[in-house]
Amino acid sequence: MICLDDVWKSYDGRPALRGVTLHIDPGEAVLLTGPSGAGKSTLLRLVYMAEYADAGEVTVAGRSLGRLRRSSIPYVRRNIGVVFQDFRLMPERTALENVAVSAEVLALPRKEVLARARAALEAVGFDEDVNRPVRVLSGGLQQRVAIARALCGDPPILLGDEPTGNLDPSRAQEVLELLEAIRSRGTTLLVATHDPTVVAFGMAHGWRRAELQDGQIIAGGRPARELLAQSEANAGIAVGPLGEAETAPLRRDSASGRPALVTAERSLDLPIEVDTSAVEEIRGHP
Ligand code: ADP
Ligand code: MG
Repeated sequence: MICLDDVWKSYDGRPALRGVTLHIDPGEAVLLTGPSGAGKSTLLRLVYMAEYADAGEVTVAGRSLGRLRRSSIPYVRRNIGVVFQDFRLMPERTALENVAVSAEVLALPRKEVLARARAALEAVGFDEDVNRPVRVLSGGLQQRVAIARALCGDPPILLGDEPTGNLDPSRAQEVLELLEAIRSRGTTLLVATHDPTVVAFGMAHGWRRAELQDGQIIAGGRPARELLAQSEANAGIAVGPLGEAETAPLRRDSASGRPALVTAERSLDLPIEVDTSAVEEIRGHP
């Protein structure tokens, strides 16, 4: 659903991402972890097309972003909802208006837009008056509004950049439970965090952890499916077709022209079983 292959991104000649490969299957939830400055936000920006990679390939919902025509960008973006640490809402506008903004881009009649926005707010458990300006709401409720806005167009992918970073622990826990509920309905989730509590929550719910360090993925870049395929392929080498060493003609003794093993057998006066797969030692002789 999301694939980065050998992706590079620099700012003013300083690399923020250095050959990142990260594959995420549809329906997977992935924690993108790493210290501040590791490149987490940069990676997410490439996925939601706020920026483009210098090199390598970013594929989202089957579309290679580097080869996208400008006119196609909004259509690919519809596959992605994003939530941020600082919510990025319009503070003076109501919860309903904030969410409706994302339904408006779908060019639906106003009535339909508002109905969708209400449904999205309900789906994230927003039980306050939807007509109050969001600036009067708690951080936890503001983040619910932001998640409702992200999910209003029913995108298959939800990205979070430190989505609980501005919340107190109990509100953070509620938002994580909401994300888990969203994941369990089949949405692909990619959540950047450097918060150990978020990591612990995700791991406890079977989310995969991909670790970024200094612009490189140091662990967890591929789904279990790919790792399994890889280990099967590796095992295949051991039991696969015979290699050159096994199929090469028998080495011949240069003097007699007989197979070398036969010469050795005669000179040592030892019977050698040629069909033994690994003759390591013959009666004590290495
Ligand atoms: P993280 O989200 O893991 O904290 P970032 O992706 O924000 O990391 O940053 C990775 C590196 O790229 C850092 O060294 C940061 O200073 C640099 N960087 C990120 N965005 C910009 C930008 N817009 N301009 C210049 N440097 C940037
Ligand atoms: Mg960041």
